[in-house]
Amino acid sequence: MTIIKGISELQENVNFLKNNGKTIGFVPTMGALHDGHISLIAASKSENNITVCSIFVNPTQFNDPKDFEKYPITIEADIEKLELSGTNILFLPSVKEMYPDGFDKAQPYDLGFIETILEGKYRPGHFQGVCQIVHKLLLAVQPHNLYMGQKDYQQCMVINKLIQIENLDTKLHTRPTLREKDGLAMSSRNVRLNEEERKNALTIYRVLNYLKDHIEKESIAYLLDRSNLMLTDNNFRPDYVSIADAETLAPVENWDGHQKIVALIAAYQNEVRLIDNMVLD
Ligand code: AMP
Repeated sequence: MTIIKGISELQENVNFLKNNGKTIGFVPTMGALHDGHISLIAASKSENNITVCSIFVNPTQFNDPKDFEKYPITIEADIEKLELSGTNILFLPSVKEMYPDGFDKAQPYDLGFIETILEGKYRPGHFQGVCQIVHKLLLAVQPHNLYMGQKDYQQCMVINKLIQIENLDTKLHTRPTLREKDGLAMSSRNVRLNEEERKNALTIYRVLNYLKDHIEKESIAYLLDRSNLMLTDNNFRPDYVSIADAETLAPVENWDGHQKIVALIAAYQNEVRLIDNMVLD
């Protein structure tokens, strides 16, 4: 695996590979890698000649400075996992490399409705930061294929919108959420949970399954009330529990039994904010 820290060196390498007919798959991450990330690498490897992974903890997408400060950094273990996974290039830029002019110069992206709800509503500015960094990374890597996790359902929709707005020549592939044996969605933030919080954390998965099992039997208002109770009973402070149209994320109040819908949850277990989702049909 080649480790590259500069954008121009990365571009030179990728251009050479592309000129030699190689297809490029790209997996952007913030590090603290787990099997969920590695499943994206595996998907990229099976569909492309060359897989590029980036590790960059992007300051502009953290609306909460404490969350940024406490974001786990495990770079040596990450490099080992990437070597084992068969990643060809690791892009490991500094903040200065990605933001040479500082953080204030960005033009906002017109993301529309998708930015006003759920993560967009509860983490103001988050998706602008995500678009800023993913746009820069896509211009640097110029991949044919981009791999992201369904765990960040709304983020995948935002990135599709970014690709469309900026007319980028990259196809987004959304891959299923990898879970721990008991069902907790794998997340870099899980290492911040103590034993009791880790036990409580499973409630999110239980609630998603509860919603899936009861969506045909109960009203959505009732299900959302019950879900919030299940979460608060297990020491969660929910930002939201939503049942939404799977294509637009507009909230659904009455389900006709046919519309494709998804349940999405964001909630705090003490200081740690967890998110998860499940398609319900
Ligand atoms: P992150 O490092 O958290 O920014 O995540 C990098 C990529 O990995 C994003 O596309 C995430 O959606 C994806 N990802 C995170 N957790 C999982 C998971 N449990 N299963 C599959 N993909 C994931």
